[in-house]
Amino acid sequence: MSLANFSLSQLEQSQDFIRRHIGPGESEIASMLAAIGATSLDDLVQQTVPENIRSKSALKVGEAQTEVQALSYLKSVAKKNKLNKSYIGMGYYDTLTPNVILRNVLENPGWYTAYTPYQPEIAQGRLEALLNFQQVTIDLTGMELASASLLDEATAAAEAMGLAKRMSKNSKANAFFIADDVHPQTLDVVTTRADMFGFDIIVGKAQDAASHNIFGALLQYPGTSGVITDLTDIIAAIQANKGIVAVAADLLSLMLLKSPGEMGADVVLGSAQRFGVPMGYGGPHAAFFATRDDYKRSLPGRIIGVSKDTRGRPALRMALQTREQHIRREKANSNICTAQVLLANMASFYAVYHGPQGLKTIASRVHRFADILAAGLQKAGFELVNNTWFDTLSIKVGKNKAGIVEQALAAGINLRSDVEGVLGLSLDETTTRADLQTLFSVFTGANVELDINAFDSAIVKNGSQSIPAALVRESKVLTHPVFNSYQSETEMLRYIKSLEDKDLALNHSMISLGSCTMKLNATAEMIPVTWPEFGKLHPFAPIEQAQGYKQMMDELSEWLIDITGYDALSMQPNSGAQGEYAGLITIQKYHQSRDQGHRNVCLIPSSAHGTNPATAQMVSYKVVVVNCDKNGNIDVADLRKKAAEVADNLACAMITYPSTHGVYEETIKEICDIVHEFGGQVYIDGANMNAQVGLTSPGLIGGDVSHLNLHKTFCIPHGGGGPGMGPIGVKSHLAPFLPNHKVIGVENVGDGSVRTNGAVSAAPWGSASILPISYMYIKMMGSEGLKKATAVAILNANYVAKQLSAHYPVLYRGRNERVAHECIIDLRPLKESSGVSEMDVAKRLNDYGFHAPTMSFPVAGTLMIEPTESESKAELDRFIEAMLSIHAEIVKVESGEWDAIDNPLHNAPHTLADICDSNWTRSYDRQLAAYPVAAVARNKFWPSVNRIDDVWGDRNLNCACPSIDTYREE
Ligand SMILES: *Cc1c(COP(=O)(O)O)cnc(C)c1O
Repeated sequence: MSLANFSLSQLEQSQDFIRRHIGPGESEIASMLAAIGATSLDDLVQQTVPENIRSKSALKVGEAQTEVQALSYLKSVAKKNKLNKSYIGMGYYDTLTPNVILRNVLENPGWYTAYTPYQPEIAQGRLEALLNFQQVTIDLTGMELASASLLDEATAAAEAMGLAKRMSKNSKANAFFIADDVHPQTLDVVTTRADMFGFDIIVGKAQDAASHNIFGALLQYPGTSGVITDLTDIIAAIQANKGIVAVAADLLSLMLLKSPGEMGADVVLGSAQRFGVPMGYGGPHAAFFATRDDYKRSLPGRIIGVSKDTRGRPALRMALQTREQHIRREKANSNICTAQVLLANMASFYAVYHGPQGLKTIASRVHRFADILAAGLQKAGFELVNNTWFDTLSIKVGKNKAGIVEQALAAGINLRSDVEGVLGLSLDETTTRADLQTLFSVFTGANVELDINAFDSAIVKNGSQSIPAALVRESKVLTHPVFNSYQSETEMLRYIKSLEDKDLALNHSMISLGSCTMKLNATAEMIPVTWPEFGKLHPFAPIEQAQGYKQMMDELSEWLIDITGYDALSMQPNSGAQGEYAGLITIQKYHQSRDQGHRNVCLIPSSAHGTNPATAQMVSYKVVVVNCDKNGNIDVADLRKKAAEVADNLACAMITYPSTHGVYEETIKEICDIVHEFGGQVYIDGANMNAQVGLTSPGLIGGDVSHLNLHKTFCIPHGGGGPGMGPIGVKSHLAPFLPNHKVIGVENVGDGSVRTNGAVSAAPWGSASILPISYMYIKMMGSEGLKKATAVAILNANYVAKQLSAHYPVLYRGRNERVAHECIIDLRPLKESSGVSEMDVAKRLNDYGFHAPTMSFPVAGTLMIEPTESESKAELDRFIEAMLSIHAEIVKVESGEWDAIDNPLHNAPHTLADICDSNWTRSYDRQLAAYPVAAVARNKFWPSVNRIDDVWGDRNLNCACPSIDTYREE
């Protein structure tokens, strides 16, 4: 072949990203199309997607760019962010991410591409890291029980209010008290939540809380001004009136301070950001939440608990799941699904890395520096608002405020300036002597030297009074060996690796979790996340310093508006469930604006995800369930009947499209029309956007508002259970009701009007620092690539459905017998005839090196498989081979050839301990147990524990690190 055979443009195209993102190459696509009986991707789309919802116009997100082009462009945008040193505080502090954690956790697909640990036998690594997070929380807060983890401090506070309402014995009270020294964004978010629940908020001095008739109270420790108050008597007084007391606390300060638990608090919560997680212009970070053992059933979010496996060895899994939305739906404690696992893990590793001594040293240095600066400023004639502090000083500056702020900005420094006549500053782990000097000069306005050594000597000699003597921590923390064993980098590196090796993530094999869209999280998409230009910004930095962020988010918003067919978008919600909540608020406020505030019924099909009803409950809507017919479609007659029954009270319907049954319902437009006819709004749950992008859109279908799961469709990795981003798109009539933010006003996209609404997240743009991932994805795929990805997602699902259907019935199909981007296979007939359960199949898949598909959602006894476009035909074939091989095994149980108990399905997953057991007594051989097909041997994944006993774990709930003896016993 001649060297000149290719055209130059063909040669240039060889750098394209599209074929890296989409698993199957052209010849694989052709052979899969042939296998399912379609002539082309277009033909398949025609066969699958109803005609009346197909987009007539192409996407307008531009041409695909190569990795090099997209990265270099985004870098030029990122450079428009100005990296001032921020001393703004208010719950966000600069921190030093230990490099061993940065590279081996945050930048490591072994950690960031895993899913929520629903299959605990192949997730013991992140479960252990999360258990450590709970132990850190328990130790530092002084509480009995902790969860892991929540979305941010402000939403954790809102969850605490919910817990207080559930647990308070003052059941008639309808008011929640918030101390006036709580961070303003927390007040904002809790007020929004209270408004939706119909609670009253009383803001006042903490000392006055007990004089009100309240079901609970929120205090802050240290207060937002920096002050440290002994809360013991305040808490006791509120509790004497049957109120529940939540304390928002700062994790690092608790290394030095008496814990809120020791002061009697019922709930302690806060952000774990400053434990090594970059500020990232607002997130993502993990919030911690701790409470009394008595309240464990009321705890929001996931709890990791210790149980045991079939060998009797300790093993971890998510505990008390029956509290959660996926089981309890509108009766759940909260709607939390995706939370912040990756960031909770980073924070827990930070504690493991530094250990109690290291953390105490860090906290003490921050505190000493604050003492020195305070002494210098006072000597220079400044008065402080607070006479106690850990790291935060509020300085009275009177009329000099503007001048000092100007000097600070000139020196590249951001101070807190939201209180009249006062400037605030919070020091952190990164503060140096030189920084103290600069800060001092900014305030004094002259080149006066801050005599650090002299002030320091005085403090050493006279002692520090800035923490009241009664509030100095006496109790020991982090005594567990896990926090005292890995202080050398070698040990730390190996600890991280040893945990990573226990977890199955996307860097091992396909994770075909239906509804979760576990697609490629490309390295080029991840790289910008850890650029300092995105990582180092404080969320409340002046907007002029965040122009790079603004441009990136504006461009991304514009693309997402085009993709969804909506008119405006809010980036604030930091998970899908949070997006649902923000979306229902827009609906509620819209109705109110038209004197229709009485509308309070939300129609939800029986197939809905648990977050939908759980969210409806958060805006005080009544859930009415709409039936599905035998084909899995929403029963339109039932919908019409129920809409008519509630008539004037219909607020909205929440519909997932394509449905969680994995089909494009033909009647979707009619469904939307019916809801509109009765004056309701249509919320389309966008979790399944991966089946829509470029082919149709929620706006086109008839939706009024939707959330997107950027961590599903748009490539943000799941992080082992978070982070995520759940921006919402709305039609123009809902735009005025999108969330705003009290600290940083959010400009309205679209109509330019100022929003009066409260916030739903602590940060104005949610977890802004992971938005570059979705940005890069769209930029590198372009209009054509995105559309092709959707078509291949449909192809892959139909291919899997086709290859499995001879042995596993596919439960629901749409037009032309096609499934959408996922399919449900029904295991109930096999269970009936063989006794082998969906659980057995899920665990046996682990032996074959696969994560199980989504189990028993939305239909009990089934598996929902979503391969995504990123999986190649080779990987799909490997999965199909495993499923067919498992079917053959089930047949052996069914026929009696294998014993009902003594068989590899019942005993799955198999561990090395099983295979090496010198006392192997099973009727099948070890080879079959561990290497059931040849492909497994080439890339064996060993589950680290045997099947885990959930019931035992819930009966013997332990959510702290088990003593080492537990492990020695075996
Ligand atoms: C994932 C999912 C959600 C919830 O999204 P999170 O980001 O996990 O909060 C809601 N609905 C459906 C159908 C989903 O698949």
